[in-house]
Amino acid sequence: MQASVTPFDLPVLASSLAALAGVGPVTARRLSERGLKTWGDGLFFLPARYQDRRKPTPVNALQEGHLAVVRGRVVSGGLLGHKGKVYRLVLEDATGRLACLWFRFKRAHLEGYQPGDELFAVGEVSPGQRGEPQMIHPELYRAAEVGPEHASVGRIVPVYPEVEGVAPASLRRFLAELISRSADKILDPLAGLLPTDLYPMPAGEALSRAHQPPSSAGPQDLDPAQAPWRQALAMNELLYFELGLVLKRRRREASPAQPLSSPGKLLAGLLKALPFRLTPGQEESVRLIRDDLARSHPMGRLLCGDVGTGKTVVAAAAACLAVESGSQVAVMAPTEVLARQHLATLSRYLEPLGVRVALAVGGGNGADQVARQEAAQGGAQVLVGTHALLGQKLSFANLGLVIIDEQHRFGVSQRLALAAKAASPHLLVLSATPIPRTLALALAGHLEISDLPQRPQGPHKVATRVLEFDHRRAAVDELAAVLGRGEQAYVICPLVEASDKIEAQDAVATARNLARYFPEQRVELLHGRMDGPEQQEALGRFREGQSRVLVATTVVEVGVDVPQATLMIVLGAERFGLSQLHQLRGRVGRGQKPGRCILVAGPNPGDLAQQRLAVLAKTNDGREIAEADLHLRGPGEAMGERQSGLPPFRVARWERDAEMVPRLREVIAGWLEQDPELAGEKLAPVKKEAIRRWGRRLGLVGAG
Ligand code: ADP
Ligand code: MG
Repeated sequence: MQASVTPFDLPVLASSLAALAGVGPVTARRLSERGLKTWGDGLFFLPARYQDRRKPTPVNALQEGHLAVVRGRVVSGGLLGHKGKVYRLVLEDATGRLACLWFRFKRAHLEGYQPGDELFAVGEVSPGQRGEPQMIHPELYRAAEVGPEHASVGRIVPVYPEVEGVAPASLRRFLAELISRSADKILDPLAGLLPTDLYPMPAGEALSRAHQPPSSAGPQDLDPAQAPWRQALAMNELLYFELGLVLKRRRREASPAQPLSSPGKLLAGLLKALPFRLTPGQEESVRLIRDDLARSHPMGRLLCGDVGTGKTVVAAAAACLAVESGSQVAVMAPTEVLARQHLATLSRYLEPLGVRVALAVGGGNGADQVARQEAAQGGAQVLVGTHALLGQKLSFANLGLVIIDEQHRFGVSQRLALAAKAASPHLLVLSATPIPRTLALALAGHLEISDLPQRPQGPHKVATRVLEFDHRRAAVDELAAVLGRGEQAYVICPLVEASDKIEAQDAVATARNLARYFPEQRVELLHGRMDGPEQQEALGRFREGQSRVLVATTVVEVGVDVPQATLMIVLGAERFGLSQLHQLRGRVGRGQKPGRCILVAGPNPGDLAQQRLAVLAKTNDGREIAEADLHLRGPGEAMGERQSGLPPFRVARWERDAEMVPRLREVIAGWLEQDPELAGEKLAPVKKEAIRRWGRRLGLVGAG
């Protein structure tokens, strides 16, 4: 897991938790195993819920299944039954009697409570013998020792997530000490700068209320999902992130780029040669890109469209505009197979117009490297390669536009790094992941986003069903039927080779088993550990129908287009992202016959996985799928923490908080209007904090 960005850069928060009273070396180690090392970590270790222990409940008003505090006097105590395995203590208040039972206990300790002693018992109420209320293993406190500052009685008590080997009561005790020693030291530059309905309180107060709700707290304060303190902390994180993005965008807009404006003759030639008309979405995207390229600061545009919405033509159009104004274009794809596919398509579109297109993938012998270098030096106007293209030591004669096809990825930070690498080229990113609306809002801070909503051929529907692991046999039957009709099928596996650790179906073993099961078929194997030519050959045989089953890891997402393929089986389907699965199934049913997809879950997929897979069975709408995955798993999981390019916040959750982002952005816009450099007394500390938190990640400081 990526380390979270530490809000609040205060030396005191870097102190070790071991420095707190009551935290010995063993506890310190256990905390540290849970990622809790510093005071800062402790402050952001927030309660999962609260227990209202403000007032004792009369015994006759106790409710079964609820946590309660009872104040009463000991009536009797002693071992129960002849075997003495249970200790029973009976308390009495003015309204009735409560039995407290222990099955594990230190006898001497419990015998210390004598009839007549006044105690508080805290525990969950369950029905006892003869219907009298009882508590199993309650906490006991002597009334005489319970003062107004007591950590466990007479107040609202935070319930923290479990830390193995640390008793909840001790955790509570030293977190209480931590907060009392540090909360007032947290100076919040945002205090007073935002409307209170957006930012209900300064950060120090929010942390303090989170750990120690005041006794006047209402029900809303006691629900960590709803509490104003949570909102304040989440807005604090989001605001600085958004400010980072805004600063990033301003920086890009201030940096010079070669304006690529052209009369558009090449573009007109391209459009004329196309066997189809652009969809309105494509037209609009091309128009926006044309405007962007003509400016003297670098374009940063993300073109989102589901598989088959026609992003390649838009990329070709952008390339025409750049080439006509005399610049080179680099086109990068996630895999070599896809790079070759782009090469084929772009050559078909562009070479008839006189544009020189070349391939530049890594590896190869010295002659290949020389050829690449010559291409980059101006032999080619459009250079197509893998993502490694810019990493290589190629020096371009005049690189003006970089087009990145990210398929299902969208690595915001990766792109930022890239933009830093080449001298401010214009940047167009193609993503097949429809960005959920909420994320688009957040990212719009620094990237322009274009959507391709329509598919030219109309919606691509792939009937999808989910099979439990135990019913996987049905997938083989379906495969037999498909092969019987002379059609083709993909079988996708999550891993290349079996690993002890992960019980995933592996491609190699699956191919072997299928070959045994279908002895008359040639079963093709394709995975990322095969070298380029081997992959090409395997793919070639499948494309030409020499083999009709292709067992592959996800390299297939790479845009193979085989019209005879009508079935896609995905094994261990829950291991894939939903958008990725959606893209995968887009590979079948591209010809005349409809496609079908069978998602076979692994042996223990879990409830969440089942819910996720059910989404795919229900809808073919890529955006709906992306939204659902986001809501079910959050962006980090749904798109991969690194892939999402979104920061690991401590408190903020995109799926919950992103709707507030437009308001935060308004606030930021207001600040920039008043104080464009954010240099004034009030805003300078805010800017400084944004740069401290995000400068490195967003390339606001350093080489970028
Ligand atoms: P993707 O967005 O998945 O990269 P492609 O660019 O590969 O999609 O386009 C998918 C298919 O749709 C291609 O065969 C392409 O030629 C075709 N296509 C693209 N735009 C149009 C259009 N406006 N009308 C008809 N077909 C189109
Ligand atoms: Mg594509």
